[in-house]
Amino acid sequence: MADGIRIPDELKPVDGRFGSGPSKVRPEGAEALAAVSRTYLGTSHRQRTVKDQVARLRRGVAEFFSAPDGYEVILSNGGTSAFWDTAAFGLVRDKAQFAEFGEFGAKFAKAVADAPFLAEPTVHRAPGGQAAFLRAEAGVDVYASVHNETSTGVAVPVRRVAGADPGALLLTDATSGGGSLDVDVSETDVYYLAPQKALGSDGGIWLALMSPAAIERAFEVKGTGRYIPQFLDLVTAIEQSRLEQTYNTPALATVFLAAEQLDWMNAQGGLAWAAKRSAESAAALYGWADRSDYATPFVTDPALRSNAVATIDFADGVDAAALAKVLRANDIVDTEPYRKLGRNQLRIALYPTVDPSDVEALTTCIDYVVPRL
Ligand SMILES: *Cc1c(COP(=O)(O)O)cnc(C)c1O
Repeated sequence: MADGIRIPDELKPVDGRFGSGPSKVRPEGAEALAAVSRTYLGTSHRQRTVKDQVARLRRGVAEFFSAPDGYEVILSNGGTSAFWDTAAFGLVRDKAQFAEFGEFGAKFAKAVADAPFLAEPTVHRAPGGQAAFLRAEAGVDVYASVHNETSTGVAVPVRRVAGADPGALLLTDATSGGGSLDVDVSETDVYYLAPQKALGSDGGIWLALMSPAAIERAFEVKGTGRYIPQFLDLVTAIEQSRLEQTYNTPALATVFLAAEQLDWMNAQGGLAWAAKRSAESAAALYGWADRSDYATPFVTDPALRSNAVATIDFADGVDAAALAKVLRANDIVDTEPYRKLGRNQLRIALYPTVDPSDVEALTTCIDYVVPRL
């Protein structure tokens, strides 16, 4: 009975959390939060104590991503999903173009396609495991792509669209890639993410590094008088962020944990350090899969294989769902694949919070379990 397989403790990772989001939160972060449980938690988000943490978070993001001159860190509530609607209402002037190669890219494209006040967007699609790319097109005022497609484990470089109309904006969904993958933020106008992935915090807010052109666009679109729901008003988010606040009540624990994590990553060496650490974990996992008789990286083009989230296919004789179940019973959790992808695979987060030696240990555990299934 597979459920009865017990992995020897000495083979197990120190921390068994490999989920792609919510992902591992460092125990040190949780302890720091506990230390402020009486002075910070349960206090007003309109007062100094909380505003100082919002400020620390915004500074931390700007430093970590080496925000170019004039770029601002904007945040609000509702996670990345809320940002998509915010951008549909507040950044797209008329026509957008999308590179869609997974579930997350598809959701933003749908938000814009469904907006009755916007033109039908152009969508370049690629099947799961491959990448689609943006192409210059006259009349497009917003281009949108995904740095790391969390549903498939495909990562693409962040690059401006050559030949785009002057003033056209590029929006990059960095929800899972941001913090694990190298980036030159000056190559995009909005690099947006949520803190429950590589930032090792909890969910509920979105964060966006916005270029001066993107900020200007938000004011321009609002100035047209278009109906914009209050909660999704990007100009409000910009103005509130500048005051170290949010439109409505944020999750204070999320803000604190994200600020704590950014301070930690910045102290380790910032994005260069984080990207290197994720790359190390990726090398361990893909290297193991390449050597394995029954595991192969799902993404066939090595150049597209993500260092943030890895997807590993298993041979027909190995039931990946059963494997994930045994791992879970042994406290190695959230290795299940993205549900709608429907592959016989495991999906492993390689965010900088995850220790590369724990990824090594995970491969050892898989090799222990598979012959016993
Ligand atoms: C997780 C994820 C999202 C959704 O984030 P929420 O904060 O849950 O809305 C969007 N895009 C990508 C690439 C993601 O990985």
